[in-house]
Order: sequence, then structure tokens, then C-alpha cells
Amino acid sequence: MLAVRLHGGDGALHFDDIDVPVAADDDQVVVRVLGCGVCYSDIHVVDGDFGSEPRPLTLGHEVTGFSEEHGNVFVYTPWGCGSCRFCATGSEMICPDSHEAGLFDQGGYAEYMLVPHRRYIFPLGDLDPIDSAPLGCGGLTAFRAVKQALPLLGPGSRALVLGAGGLGQYAIQYLRMLSDAEVHVGDPDPAKCATAKELGAAEAAAPADLEGPYTAVLDFVAAQASLEEGVRLVDRQGILVAIGLHGGRVPFGFGAVPMEAKLTTSVWGSLGDFGELIQLAQREQIRHVVERLPLADAAIAHERLRRGDVKGRFVLVP
Ligand SMILES: [Zn+2]
Ligand SMILES: [Zn+2]
Repeated sequence: MLAVRLHGGDGALHFDDIDVPVAADDDQVVVRVLGCGVCYSDIHVVDGDFGSEPRPLTLGHEVTGFSEEHGNVFVYTPWGCGSCRFCATGSEMICPDSHEAGLFDQGGYAEYMLVPHRRYIFPLGDLDPIDSAPLGCGGLTAFRAVKQALPLLGPGSRALVLGAGGLGQYAIQYLRMLSDAEVHVGDPDPAKCATAKELGAAEAAAPADLEGPYTAVLDFVAAQASLEEGVRLVDRQGILVAIGLHGGRVPFGFGAVPMEAKLTTSVWGSLGDFGELIQLAQREQIRHVVERLPLADAAIAHERLRRGDVKGRFVLVP
């Protein structure tokens, strides 16, 4: 089968013909991959930012597939050790011994994928297996971030989404479905602002042009500039959630942040979050801004993602 893999540390994508994986026991499941989203984390893996191993390593962690036994399924990919106190509550993405598919274990840029435990398999139902593939990371990460803010987002509240790429586009929709907040979006790209308004944002503009305070700020960029904007714009007793992996840092303490504002990170999502999100997707119409590409075009997808030449999310189709 075709698998798109990293070999050495040079970041080159190799299009390898390898054996189809075989389940070693009853708990393992081999799925035929139907779609695999391309996440910016994949670029970080290619660039060596996470020290990903083993090598060769098949990329990809937004996977839908088909198995004879389960039909069409989502694969939960932030795999943990299964036995620590975080894994015990389903928060495998926080596990200190995690081995996420496509980052520290074999992922879904391939025709088939080995899933090590059936607890990672979730029925897809009627959802489109290609369009909904990004729910596995982009959609799930945005969902957990929104959940962190939801308790504060009653009537009269305002929520700000910083960054209207793939994750921000999901967050806008979840906020509209699940909260009473008026949703604003900060993004320097006018095209992304237009998409944000189509998805239900009441206001979308460059971050510097926005006026706070906001009850919740969800920073899907979390670079230095956006986190500083977040601290400027979040309300007293509000919440600022950092989700993006662009390495920003801001000072914390009295005088540095608004009084009693909560600052937190939000990481991917738990098994419970994923189950809730899939139910939401089956109940409501979530719009996926997706461009489909053949698996053989993985390098093109990466090159375009690096340039920012993407409206939402790419999904590779084997
Ligand atoms: Zn991801
Ligand atoms: Zn664990």
C-alpha cells in the first residue's frame, strides 16, 4: 500500500510502497483510510519541531476509515498509555507517555492504518467521511477550547475567536450552536474574515481594530502578537484560552492581566469530548471548509499550507 512517510531528519516526504498492517490481537483494528486531514502540526512534525519518532513515520492524525466490523469510523488519534490518571478519565491527549498517531506513532497518510485499541474507534454514522475527517484534530481541538469558555458565555456575553483558519472556523460555529455569546473574529486576512461572517460571526476584522472587553478570547494562533492582543481584549473575570502552537508567551500576575481573568491552554480533546462532538455533528449542520486532494499530492498540500494558500482544511484521499 501507499504510505507517505518521513525517513531521516531532512523533512523529505517519501511515497513508500509498504505492507498493509495486520491486527495482532482482538483489540486492534485495521481501517481502510477514507480521508486524512492535513493539520499544521504535520508541518511541525516535518520540520522536526516535536522530535517525532519512530522513523520511518507515516504522518497524519485526522483520520476516517472503514472496517468490515464497524463500517465507517472516526479514529481518535491522541493515543495515551491507557493506564495513567489522565488516561483513566479519557484525557489521553494529556498523557505524559502519549504516542499520538502521525506524531509519535504510525498515522493516516496511507491506504490502511493500524488502530491499537478499539476504544479509539467511533462510528461515523451518516457523516461524510472526507469532509468530516478534520473533526479528528481541528474540529476536536476547537470543541474542547469552546467547552472551556462555555460556562462564562451566558446572555449578553461576547466571545472573540483569534485566527479564522480551520480551527477558528469550527469554533465560530460551535459558539453559535452552544452559547448565547455574540461571536467576533480577529484575523488580518480579509478573505478569512469574509468566511468567518458566512459562518455566523457578527463582526470580523484585523485584531488591532477590535474593541474589548470580551468575556472569552480563544486564541487559535497563540503567537506573541495574538496573545498580547488576547490579554488586551479579555474582560475582568473573563477567560483567555491559548490553543495555537506558535510559541507566544505573556507575563502573568497582578497588573499584567485583567483582574481575575483566567488564562489557560487547551489541548486537542478527550475521548469524552470526541464522543460529544460526533453527536453534535450528527445533530447539527457543521460546515466543513474542505479541499480534497489525492494522497499522492501530500507534498503539494504541505507546500500550500506553508504559504497560507488554504481556505480551511485539506483532506487527503487515498
Ligand atoms: Zn492536528
Ligand atoms: Zn496515560
